[in-house]
Amino acid sequence: MTNPYRQLPGLDALLHHTQLGDAIHTFGRATVRDVAREVLEAARARIHEGEATPDELQLITGMMTLLEHTLAPSLRPIINATGVVLHTNLGRAPLSLAARQAMDAVSHGYSNLEYDLESGRRGSRYSHAEQLLCQLTGAEAALVVNNNAAAVTLVLRSLAAGKEVILSRGEMVEIGGGFRIPDIMRQSGARLVEVGTTNRTRVADYAQAIAPETAAILKVHRSNFKLVGFTASAGMGELVELAAQQQPPLPVLNDLGSGTLLNTADFGLEYEPTVQDSVQAGAALTTFSGDKLLGGPQAGIIVGKKTHLQKLRQQPLTRALRVDKTTLAGLQATLMAYLRGTATAEIPVWRMISAPVAELAARAQAWAAELAAAGMPADLRPGQSTVGGGSLPGQSLPTTLLALPSSQPDQLAQRLRLASPAIVGRIEHDTVLLDPRTVQPAQEALFLQTLLRVLQAES
Ligand SMILES: *Cc1c(COP(=O)(O)O)cnc(C)c1O
Repeated sequence: MTNPYRQLPGLDALLHHTQLGDAIHTFGRATVRDVAREVLEAARARIHEGEATPDELQLITGMMTLLEHTLAPSLRPIINATGVVLHTNLGRAPLSLAARQAMDAVSHGYSNLEYDLESGRRGSRYSHAEQLLCQLTGAEAALVVNNNAAAVTLVLRSLAAGKEVILSRGEMVEIGGGFRIPDIMRQSGARLVEVGTTNRTRVADYAQAIAPETAAILKVHRSNFKLVGFTASAGMGELVELAAQQQPPLPVLNDLGSGTLLNTADFGLEYEPTVQDSVQAGAALTTFSGDKLLGGPQAGIIVGKKTHLQKLRQQPLTRALRVDKTTLAGLQATLMAYLRGTATAEIPVWRMISAPVAELAARAQAWAAELAAAGMPADLRPGQSTVGGGSLPGQSLPTTLLALPSSQPDQLAQRLRLASPAIVGRIEHDTVLLDPRTVQPAQEALFLQTLLRVLQAES
């Protein structure tokens, strides 16, 4: 009887197999050797348990699976067919061409990130997007940090550590991903003073809560839920007026969350207070995200009064929250589109939001025709896309959806997710639905190829 262990290929034989050439190129010889050892050891253990000796191809398949699962970069592009324009789990805002080019340009080599070219001396990274932000929002000064959660933390730490901040009970929100306003408040060292009730808070409630320990009034935009029915809340204008009457005057801080620069009502959506509104109303500081409705890279943007922003810049925490050169370059390029007045044409988020219904219907029809031509009929049905990403809760945009008939929709959806590139759709009423609104035109050919491949394997 032959020794089953002897039939196992040797380490060197495995490593010289032509099929592993690409893997060695990608992962490096040492890694592939380690994985080969691991796979051989596992094979010996199985032989010991009485299993048959695997052949070379089986071992190599095992190695490839191990390499792909454990060491291949796990973060990769996917196709968003959910119809949720700003999907936090799917990376929020896709960037404009100009933003990508600007990020690419500063990433190739050196830049004047913290260098003043005129004087030849040290400059400030915080100067880069500031003028643009002031021009677009009407603010006196601006500061960009890592994200909006960081921006809010920094603002509270700088202006209210060890003191009290007044907040309506109707705005004690959780944004998601562990961002809860009361927790952020505690983190920053400020003491929360709750006023009003869940559904109603009036200016008088704030007025009564003002004490010598009060450092600021905070307003937080209800980004991801709606308050309907018997409700009341104080407007920015009234709060600014109240705060200005105090001795010394109090700052009103406004966390807008999404922070749109454009009028959302122009796109068939409810009016969402803009950053300009907040500045105009007299907010001392307004905070918002770079990668929500602004449509740029992940960042936290703070605009407002010079004196307050000066304090923020001097905070040691600011150093820990600083943005890198690619973010600043991408943000500047994104803001330039607003300056030129071409944001709806250039910035993907706004292009998707403003996509005409007829265009969406035509694209869904073209997809259905393509599938039908390959012998796989699919239905079209009217549906709704959403903006998502903590903005415009409860509101939707009409679209046309491609509905994939399947007796096992969960499995079909999973096969689409496991395809390369992954296609993420949604399931409603036991049907897999794909929304053209969030499928980028540049991805469309690849999307259809992938979809056909998955459906063909299915049938
Ligand atoms: C989204 C959001 C945040 C958090 O912003 P990130 O950029 O995700 O850190 C904070 N506050 C509000 C009101 C938000 O909507």
